Amino acid sequence: MTKKLPAWFKQQIPDAEVKGRIKLLGELNVNTVCSHAGCPNLSFCFKNLKFTFLILGDTCTRNCRFCGVGKSKGKKLTLDENEPNRVSQAVEMLNLKFAVITSVTRDDLADKGAAHFSRTIRMIRQKDKSTEVEALIPDFSGDITGLKCVIDSEPSILAHNLETVRRLYGDLRPEADYDSSLRILKEAKEINPSLITKSSLILGMGEAEDEVIYAMEDLRSSGCDILTLGQYLAPTEKHHPVAEFVEEEQFDEYRRLGLGFGFKEVLSGPKVRSSYQAEKVFQGLKNV
Ligand code: SF4
Repeated sequence: MTKKLPAWFKQQIPDAEVKGRIKLLGELNVNTVCSHAGCPNLSFCFKNLKFTFLILGDTCTRNCRFCGVGKSKGKKLTLDENEPNRVSQAVEMLNLKFAVITSVTRDDLADKGAAHFSRTIRMIRQKDKSTEVEALIPDFSGDITGLKCVIDSEPSILAHNLETVRRLYGDLRPEADYDSSLRILKEAKEINPSLITKSSLILGMGEAEDEVIYAMEDLRSSGCDILTLGQYLAPTEKHHPVAEFVEEEQFDEYRRLGLGFGFKEVLSGPKVRSSYQAEKVFQGLKNV
């Protein structure tokens, strides 16, 4: 178990091009989880025109201990009805052929934000129906009608992150439910069996190797096609501390095991995040 910052922990300094794209998104008043969660790949992705747009505002009603996104802590939130239009404009202006849409969790909304999520996908497609969209959804508090609403807008990939192993849910994701997250992925396949589904695990938060393998098996049992595994980095000292920097060989081993369990693709590595190389993976599966 090593705690010294590993060699890969180097972040690219944003160059003028990246800064320009950050400025454009700011001018369009469009959020990305890349910025809000302090993703280590931001410069690389923005330079290559890869963005994960954050909708339903930038403040979450939950309080996952590993997440750098702002928390409402009971404060009343609003919903900006024009946000879907702005996100679709950003996708059009950046001429993106593939866009990842994710959101904060809005337990305060009657439909948990499902209609807003669906509208965002539809507005992107209205501008260019060939745009592929990966929808990384919250659990809509297990409400399947919300899931159906998003699936009806025909995302190219339906993603929902399990994030961590069952034992750590109580500490790290107190408002979420492990089985409910698995059910979302399972139901998605039942609603549309040809829909590609995807999930993600964050490692280095105190999980044991066998627990990771159980979680991978649980995801496969829910029909999940794509899995990403990455190293946890604490957003601040107030967040859950890094328990371990998982060795790169261990990430390779998880990939080997995952492909053996039947995942169509497994991206596994310290800097991997749930939408890292998302378009490349999607195109890879499309061409199979
Ligand atoms: S639900 Fe998502 S956005 Fe909200 S705190 Fe948890 S991980 Fe962060």
